Amino acid sequence: MKLKDVLKPLKDFAPESTAEPWDNVGLQVGSQLDEVEKVLLTVDVTESTVDEAVEKGCQLIVSHHPMIFKPLKSLEVAGLVPRTLVKAIKNNIAIYCAHTNLDLAEGGVNHALSDALGLLGGRVKGLVPSGYNEFAKVVVYVSEDAVDQVKEALWRGGAGHIGNYDHCLYQIEGTGQFRPLEGTDPYLGTQGEDTQISEIRLETIVSLRDYPSLIEKVKEAHPYEEPVIDVFPLHFPKNTRYMGMICTLDRTVELEELQARWGKKTLFVGEKKPIKKVAVLGGSGGRGVEYAVKGRVDLFVTGELDYHDLIALQAEGVAALLLGHGASEAPVLEALQEILPVDSIISQNPYFETF
Ligand SMILES: [Zn+2]
Repeated sequence: MKLKDVLKPLKDFAPESTAEPWDNVGLQVGSQLDEVEKVLLTVDVTESTVDEAVEKGCQLIVSHHPMIFKPLKSLEVAGLVPRTLVKAIKNNIAIYCAHTNLDLAEGGVNHALSDALGLLGGRVKGLVPSGYNEFAKVVVYVSEDAVDQVKEALWRGGAGHIGNYDHCLYQIEGTGQFRPLEGTDPYLGTQGEDTQISEIRLETIVSLRDYPSLIEKVKEAHPYEEPVIDVFPLHFPKNTRYMGMICTLDRTVELEELQARWGKKTLFVGEKKPIKKVAVLGGSGGRGVEYAVKGRVDLFVTGELDYHDLIALQAEGVAALLLGHGASEAPVLEALQEILPVDSIISQNPYFETF
């Protein structure tokens, strides 16, 4: 199966456009047209992950953490990232990353973690509001004959997604006017003459993260020398997507019960008491501290927290259960196995256990 078809259900599950603006998700190595029979699922990509992919006959690695995050200045095989990249390329291994889009996905990282801890039986709500829902309205004017190619460019650029709908757009017919001056090569009209043409105004929506590349794609597809593309920032109500969750249980549980369900190494900080309300945030929990306190939870379960965050929680009477960064994110890999349309295996890389 082609790589793009393998990734389609994953992209529907965790759309790239929902990643945080600072993130770097998507295909990092390889081609959409690569043939993929088997996928290796992992939290991080290191050289040994690439070795594992080769050994186990995988052509694609799907990773939670982006391997390329900061801009690379060289591919000299000195640092971990260039070394891993070069090894992947030499072995024809493609690498795809789903990071904050997977954190935010319904059924994603935090859902899988809460499920692994048996916390989903009661009431569940979001923990940290995400900044993903920063949108812009994009308006493009184009002659009728080129409407379809411009729409295609809008879709390719990530525009037109609203909830579970895509290709969302409004169009209206009107009359555009211009006068091509000296040195122009107008698509329509004649140099030096006022020209009026029938045009379509296309209006759609795009995330702020996608809009710079969207503009490039629309310009490429647009037949005019000087296409008019207007971008208006929109202020949507916040809190439509959340990072992490607050689970209110039907009954109180003891810490030991949660630790037994988890079955792996944990670090507990705080005072032991019966637990009814739990904040869950996979990975680094720092951004969840304020919301865990506001939510008056008994326990904050996360991958890792720094000293000051632990102090802040303790001061507010919130206990913390740390699972290790990678370990707290690994449960989602099983969910990805269900989603992918080809055979997949979960990496045995021991960094999952790194605390
Ligand atoms: Zn992480």
